[in-house]
Amino acid sequence: MTALPQNRHDNFRAPFDPYGAVTHEVTNQPVELTDTNLFDSDAALKESVRREGADWATPSLEAFGARAGSAEYLEQGVLANKNPPELDTHDRYGRRIDLVRFHPSYHALMKASIEEGLHSSPWSDPREGAHIARAARSYMQTQVEAGHGCPITMTFASVPCLRTQPDLAEQWLPKIEARVYDPRNVPAGEKAGVTIGMAMTEKQGGSDVRANTTRAIPAGAEGPGKAYELVGHKYFVSAPMCDAFLVLAQAPGGLSCFLVPRWRPDGTKNPLQIVRLKRKMGNVSNASSETELRGALGWMVGPEGRGVATIIEMVAMTRFDCMIGSSAGMRMATSQAIDHCRQRKAFGAYLIDQPLMTAVLADLAIEAEAAMTLTMRIGRALDNRHDAHEDALVRLGTAIGKYWICKRTPGHAYEALECIGGSGVMEDSPMPRLYREAPVNAIWEGSGNVQCLDIARAIRRSPATLDAYFAEVGAAKGESAALDAHTAALKNDMRDLDDFEARGRDLCDRLALGLEAAALIRAASPVAEAFGRSRLESRSVHNYGALTGVDCKAIVKRAAPR
Ligand SMILES: Cc1cc2nc3c(=O)[nH]c(=O)nc-3n(C[C@H](O)[C@H](O)[C@H](O)COP(=O)(O)OP(=O)(O)OC[C@H]3O[C@@H](n4cnc5c(N)ncnc54)[C@H](O)[C@@H]3O)c2cc1C
Repeated sequence: MTALPQNRHDNFRAPFDPYGAVTHEVTNQPVELTDTNLFDSDAALKESVRREGADWATPSLEAFGARAGSAEYLEQGVLANKNPPELDTHDRYGRRIDLVRFHPSYHALMKASIEEGLHSSPWSDPREGAHIARAARSYMQTQVEAGHGCPITMTFASVPCLRTQPDLAEQWLPKIEARVYDPRNVPAGEKAGVTIGMAMTEKQGGSDVRANTTRAIPAGAEGPGKAYELVGHKYFVSAPMCDAFLVLAQAPGGLSCFLVPRWRPDGTKNPLQIVRLKRKMGNVSNASSETELRGALGWMVGPEGRGVATIIEMVAMTRFDCMIGSSAGMRMATSQAIDHCRQRKAFGAYLIDQPLMTAVLADLAIEAEAAMTLTMRIGRALDNRHDAHEDALVRLGTAIGKYWICKRTPGHAYEALECIGGSGVMEDSPMPRLYREAPVNAIWEGSGNVQCLDIARAIRRSPATLDAYFAEVGAAKGESAALDAHTAALKNDMRDLDDFEARGRDLCDRLALGLEAAALIRAASPVAEAFGRSRLESRSVHNYGALTGVDCKAIVKRAAPR
């Protein structure tokens, strides 16, 4: 007997359908955006890699782009989010285990990220363009799945912080930098590769970590590198299966930073206990937990009482990764919107060719390219911190970029979703995931206002950072009348910083727009002029697509993923 197809969509046509069960043919519906090369199909990304000093990485980025854009790889991102992590606090016999179980796809993505060096390559293989090569790879990986990027980023970012404590660094860095993913719930001593998390936020304050109440009691001798027992709680601890955490706690001499492993060196469980997992609107594949520290053993990192200054080394790096992550979200949303509109017709014509839609798509593409271009510019600065200008640019540019790019992403995701229409709202589309992921980067690692305060702090403490900003933007002088006027007005308004906080949002928005415009001009990007026209000349409130005098078709063509 001939086997019947499993469902009616498998091109099955009954020769005779007496019951009228074949109701219609599916037409005018796009095919999924899969099996593209996320590197090759992204002109702006390829140019930035070449321009910012990582051309040597192009062949391996091409290979990774093909892998990341494949249907099979994209499916890992879907499954890791469809099957959220689950917590077992105890085993069935009542022993404390604090075990979070993840779907195999989450582990597959973690393994791939670590094998690609996203958690460490600029530290383990430093060279010209190392941060750029990593950022480009991370940008592609995050388009596939953002949640698992959290422990990858924290592991990457922990390195500058741990280096401030050489004895601990010597012990931990070889395993942090190793390209080995070992998810087992066993002591770090039994592993060849480890991951690192961070725990600062408490119930009474996340931005204001000085309000932390967790205490660190000396276990013997006191001071940097010495052992303490920590008692208290942490309200947000993401990726709680990391092998160790950088934790803030009040030592006798003030708020200090500690390295707290999941297991003690004697092989017993360190009492950093997971109380529950958060139920989050997005970032679902990543477990974020509430924890209690019941005498958890930890070692002081950096000077006593200088916990914030020590951990800020880590936070600066995570903020850079927020720029990468949010830029990646915008790129994927733009790709999905353009690809859908390329295949979907309404009123007799493809959406992509209908002027209102072309303008919306072009505007989404401009926003995404500006974000990625600025991110890569800061990546180059990270690669060249020995240069005073680049170092100052890292300090101010990371705060500005984190503030702006992460804040632009939710609105961008929504507009891209609307381009797809009703199907964009469906859970089996990638859009709800992009949409729900979008606000997260703006909140953690310093929310919007906190970034504005940090920008003010950086400028007040080191006016050289503002000089570097204006030198950077000034390098594009004469290329765009809009940018020149923008910069002159901004310079004037930044002369007196006394009431910066009250004007902070306005000033930080303008700082960001100037930096993005300059980055696009410097990159000779074809979207630079449209950016200036739509974002510098006209700063009134408007929706995506309110572009005039711009060659929208050319911009959409450049951004099209296939
Ligand atoms: C998914 C997720 C995962 C997280 N994972 C971790 C983790 O692994 N480790 C960790 O330590 N934390 C983590 N966090 C916590 C995160 O860092 C905090 O939520 C964040 O720092 C904000 O702190 P808060 O929630 O206490 O808000 P608050 O500090 O109460 O801030 C609320 C709002 O007030 C604003 N604000 C604060 N101060 C000022 C001011 N002076 N002037 C004007 N406005 C101000 C903020 O910008 C914010 O918008 C995570 C958060 C999320 C959402």
